[in-house]
Amino acid sequence: MKLPVTLLPFTNRNLSLPTPASPKHEVLELPENLTVNESHDSLSWFRNYHDYQAHVDYLHRLSDEYPPLTRLFSAGKSFEKRPISGIHLFGKSGPGKKPAIVFLGTIHAREWITSMVTEYIAYSLLRYYDVDKDVEYALNSFDFYIVPVANPDGFVYSQTKNRMWRKNRQTQPGASCIGRDLNRNWDVHWDHKAGASTWPCHNTYRGPKAFDAPETMALATELQAIKERQGIRLFIDWHSFGQLVMHPYGYPCTKHLPPFSATSWLAGELADAMRKVHGTEYRAGAACDLLYPTSGDSADYAFEVLGADYAYTIELRPGLDSGFKEGGFRLPEEQILGTAEEAWEGVRHVVQFIHHY
Ligand SMILES: [Zn+2]
Repeated sequence: MKLPVTLLPFTNRNLSLPTPASPKHEVLELPENLTVNESHDSLSWFRNYHDYQAHVDYLHRLSDEYPPLTRLFSAGKSFEKRPISGIHLFGKSGPGKKPAIVFLGTIHAREWITSMVTEYIAYSLLRYYDVDKDVEYALNSFDFYIVPVANPDGFVYSQTKNRMWRKNRQTQPGASCIGRDLNRNWDVHWDHKAGASTWPCHNTYRGPKAFDAPETMALATELQAIKERQGIRLFIDWHSFGQLVMHPYGYPCTKHLPPFSATSWLAGELADAMRKVHGTEYRAGAACDLLYPTSGDSADYAFEVLGADYAYTIELRPGLDSGFKEGGFRLPEEQILGTAEEAWEGVRHVVQFIHHY
């Protein structure tokens, strides 16, 4: 039996080798009056999954290609001392002067598609900056902070030992199991047991106290600094899978946004824009209504503690109903680019709104 590429055992570096591409997706076309000169096939990166070091190298490559519009940053170190690397994108006015948009990927290790999607958004902002007025407007109006691999230790472990690993790789005295769920460890409603597990072996283990994971602590410190410097307009934590655009609240389920809130309206706009690209159905709604209670999660923290105007958790392909038949967390590589295109279109669309509202 021939295994799909994503199920084959591999060494780290082999992951970044190109495999023969057989794109089944439609490539999003530029409007007729726009042209882009490509010195090489930049899209080839998005035909395969890649290892952690290749992702770090990719951010360097992007930044080297567009030095006046970018700089790299590290939010801090993971438990195993890997950098939590990000790319900061800004327009010609320079860094640190405009409201911020923050995207996190791969906070759950096995959700590899989110590393690719967040990088595709960074790539598209830079590639289309000089040729698409909407993109120029977006980058001239906001600073983007994008962290494609927010949980590097778990990500490496999912690529070398256990493809289904979700948490970080943090040990705990007296506990035989390893790891915190980095989307249950934020200091917002953390002490409510209903939305997370208190058992160290569970996949949603919240940790012995809020922010005891170095990754969440580092990210929260970085976000706090961004908030104080610029304010956060939009925050998205990208996940898979389920095809859902979820606005607060993850916890408690009895708490709801006010009727007609801009935050819930924009979730619908995101879902619609994403659907229009390839016909993929995305549903929008409150996190607790669409999935289950999640206490100590990043989107509630961004919304309630950091005061982000718009904060979402987005679950990418596949959908909830047929998810596992379509690969589940192992979304086939043929779907990377199509998923990235619809996510990018969602972002491109809503950024035009949040400048005005
Ligand atoms: Zn997740």
